[in-house]
Amino acid sequence: MQQSHNRISAPADHRSLKDPLEVLDRIFGYPAFRGRQAEVVNQVVAGGDAVVLFPTGAGKSLCFQIPALCRAGVGIVVSPLIALMRDQVEALKQLGVRAAALNSSLTREEFMAVRQALAGGELDLLYVTPERIVTPGFKDMIGHATIALIAIDEAHCVSQWGHDFRPEYRELGHLAERYPGVPRMALTATADPHTREDIIDKLALRSAEVFTTSFDRPNIAYQIVERDQPRQQLLRFLGRHKGSSGIVYCLSRAKVEDTAEWLNKQGVRARAYHAGMDRSIREDNQDAFLKEEGLCLVATVAFGMGIDKPNVRYVAHLDLPGSIEAYYQETGRAGRDGLPSDAWMAYGMADVIQRGRMIDGGGSADDVKRVERSKLNALLAVCETPGCRRQAVLAHFGEAHPGNCGNCDTCLTPVETWDGTDAAIKALAAVYRTGERFGTGHLIDVLLGKENEKTTRFGHIDMPVFGAGSDMPSKTWQSVYRQLLAAGLVSVDHDAFGALKLEPEARAVFKRERDVRFRKDRPTSGKSSRGASSSSANAKSALEGSDMELFEALRATRMAIARELSVPPYVVFPDTTLVAFATERPDSHEALLGISGVGQSKLERYGDAFLKAIRDHQS
Ligand code: ADP
Ligand code: ZN
Repeated sequence: MQQSHNRISAPADHRSLKDPLEVLDRIFGYPAFRGRQAEVVNQVVAGGDAVVLFPTGAGKSLCFQIPALCRAGVGIVVSPLIALMRDQVEALKQLGVRAAALNSSLTREEFMAVRQALAGGELDLLYVTPERIVTPGFKDMIGHATIALIAIDEAHCVSQWGHDFRPEYRELGHLAERYPGVPRMALTATADPHTREDIIDKLALRSAEVFTTSFDRPNIAYQIVERDQPRQQLLRFLGRHKGSSGIVYCLSRAKVEDTAEWLNKQGVRARAYHAGMDRSIREDNQDAFLKEEGLCLVATVAFGMGIDKPNVRYVAHLDLPGSIEAYYQETGRAGRDGLPSDAWMAYGMADVIQRGRMIDGGGSADDVKRVERSKLNALLAVCETPGCRRQAVLAHFGEAHPGNCGNCDTCLTPVETWDGTDAAIKALAAVYRTGERFGTGHLIDVLLGKENEKTTRFGHIDMPVFGAGSDMPSKTWQSVYRQLLAAGLVSVDHDAFGALKLEPEARAVFKRERDVRFRKDRPTSGKSSRGASSSSANAKSALEGSDMELFEALRATRMAIARELSVPPYVVFPDTTLVAFATERPDSHEALLGISGVGQSKLERYGDAFLKAIRDHQS
């Protein structure tokens, strides 16, 4: 294997190519643009500005990479994470594109090499950090070099409304004056309208064309379960994903470490990632996740932005995120390659209390707290909906989906609902009669008629509601309270240690002016409910018998090449390409080129190795 990827310049016959479709085919090996990619590319090739709001996996990178290759000069890409720049640059070099990154991790020699390549007009794409692009030093370095375009990736970092706010992004608004006449692009997968508005405003892109597509991720199966025995539930879920890579999100650093350790004891290969870890261990774990297969990364939300590993097969949440936006962003890291993937979450009332406490203790202004609380409630409503989850989530982003997606737990196994008006009245009465001072644990004791120290001491045993709910088990009452919360009929008073309070809308229920229907909880004990798992998300799931064996052999070939080059396997070829190799079994260079993901450069680098693997398998 040639180590040519270490050179900045690589054979690059695309310099003579200007047609976007031809670049797409020859360099990237893809036969056609997807969705609105072609429109974005044409806009920027023609010199216009663009705001690109596509969901994860839609293919935003090509939207700036192709115009950079079609236009004269170097395309500058602003990206917030140094560790990930490296992989993107590596992936481009594999394609024969002359790419480099400029960041603080470079040695003096590397820096000089980039500088020289830039001055000599020998770079197609240059990745830089937001801090660096705004410095006078950077402008000097650019000198008289022609800039093809400036692309601002992860553009939501400019917004304080988003959850990844980075102050240095604010400065990027000045790029318009500093580099006049250069087309600028902002790209993000954030669907929240407030953040979008901020991007256009703060990055001075008022006159840019805005490109949006549906935010639906049809290949992701959503499943939300009631937390019962979280570790066992997680283990059962992971059992469906043996050999695949995925992320398990936890709220706290301690829980991340405990969970990772426990999973390893259970025979699941897992590593931890959170911001409080020793930097070198953290980076090592991230690197392992990107480069190895079948690794489970247990992480806080500190992990994830900019991760473009395409074959993350699952994202599991052991704790409730703070909003639908966060949930969607985090689950969206699954299935970039378009293959079936699972988003799974276990949650309970304790999450709501904990999240609420974080909001109230967070020191934000009151109006911010109010927004955060309503965001949390919106997510809770998605968790408790008896309808299609996809429809509920997309509706939150202002997108109409007809429902019945067939790929979420409520669509695959419809939940039954029941007339809960009487139960709601009892549950609300328990809140009211006890003075809106108690949490669900005590309220349920009252409803069930449990004579204990607390119910006795407060005189609750003498109230008419005491024992009024003994016809239903404690679990059902828990579910009732969660749903009352989701419906906005009660709220949690976090100053009073999670006491429930009545909301004004509760009055209509008391007066029987409003009917209440509850979803029936699924049984959580025993075998895992199949739910959305029927997709058994895996690249291999489409393969059978001999094709499957060949796929495994091709994976081994890919891993050997990746190890030798020290790059993540997907940089060599994505799973989708290997699946096509396994089923179509190309036997010549010509046939290889016909497969999506095989361009000229990769054909030359790896074509023979994969042809040999296919031949060996057949003999
Ligand atoms: P995003 O940045 O929008 O999340 P990426 O740019 O990482 O998405 O692309 C996701 C995956 O889709 C990548 O593996 C990419 O190579 C692939 N892809 C993008 N555009 C096309 C296309 N037109 N045809 C085939 N595959 C594509
Ligand atoms: Zn659905």
